[in-house]
Amino acid sequence: MIPRSGVITLALVLLVLAAGCNDIARNAPGERISVAVTIPPQEEMVREIGGERVEVVVMVPPGSDPHTYEPEPALVARAAGADLYVTIGTGLLPIEDTLVSRLTAMNPGLVVADSSTGIPSLSPDRGGETSLVQGEDLGRETGQANPSPDPHIWLSLRNAVIMSENTRDALIKVDPANENEYRRNCDKYTSRLRDLDQEIDAAYSRNDPGMILVTHQAWDYFARDYHLDIVAIENDGKEATAKDLASFILLARSHGIRVVFAEAQESTREAETIAGEIGGSVRVIDPLAGDYLANMERVAEAFGGAAQG
Ligand SMILES: [Zn+2]
Repeated sequence: MIPRSGVITLALVLLVLAAGCNDIARNAPGERISVAVTIPPQEEMVREIGGERVEVVVMVPPGSDPHTYEPEPALVARAAGADLYVTIGTGLLPIEDTLVSRLTAMNPGLVVADSSTGIPSLSPDRGGETSLVQGEDLGRETGQANPSPDPHIWLSLRNAVIMSENTRDALIKVDPANENEYRRNCDKYTSRLRDLDQEIDAAYSRNDPGMILVTHQAWDYFARDYHLDIVAIENDGKEATAKDLASFILLARSHGIRVVFAEAQESTREAETIAGEIGGSVRVIDPLAGDYLANMERVAEAFGGAAQG
């Protein structure tokens, strides 16, 4: 016969064990897992992989600039109550780093997963004033080393495959019971990402779009994937000066550029100025659209068609 105090101890041990298990797979069957992400393209990844099992909180809504945006307190509170936060990546976006440390202070149990794990990061290849040299080398100089890596990792379909797999592993961590489903869904989604990547690669191999002029330096990973020459008007996040604009007008003329790509989150004024001078047009692209895969196809086509104007 077990003494009475022994029974109580055993009951306590069982309770603690049960609580421990609950901590790992904290959601009851049928209850959705709440996943917070930073930008809308990540929402598509989480929804495609998590399916009906997830609800998603996006911290930087469509149309806002993730470099400067401050989420509303109500949204921060919602994210603090989530089961999982999938970041773009530690050290990539200062507002995300700040937000995540706030959230983990509010909810020490929040599982944080870094979607950039395993992705080689690029450094913006221009630094300070040294980048503005004449003619052909404009925007292509190495300049001073910039310590902060380029945060726009999602604008590469190849990176998006890795981000999806990291997202899948994070979902499995908080909800191991549904591992097989997450793996199946992730395989389906990443094969669509890979298919589009190959289509774009083939299209650009048949038809080199030549130099592409964009306002915001967000497309270096995309340029790397397809060996494109994408030049950004923005210099280290600073607005171009009148002198810079004059250089870009010369550059655009010498490369027969017909389209200047501006972005949905920012002013098109600089792009309009250059387009006006070269007799070209401005086209708005969105690096943050929520329909990620379809948007990547749209942008690829827009870049591809730029040579034709
Ligand atoms: Zn950006």
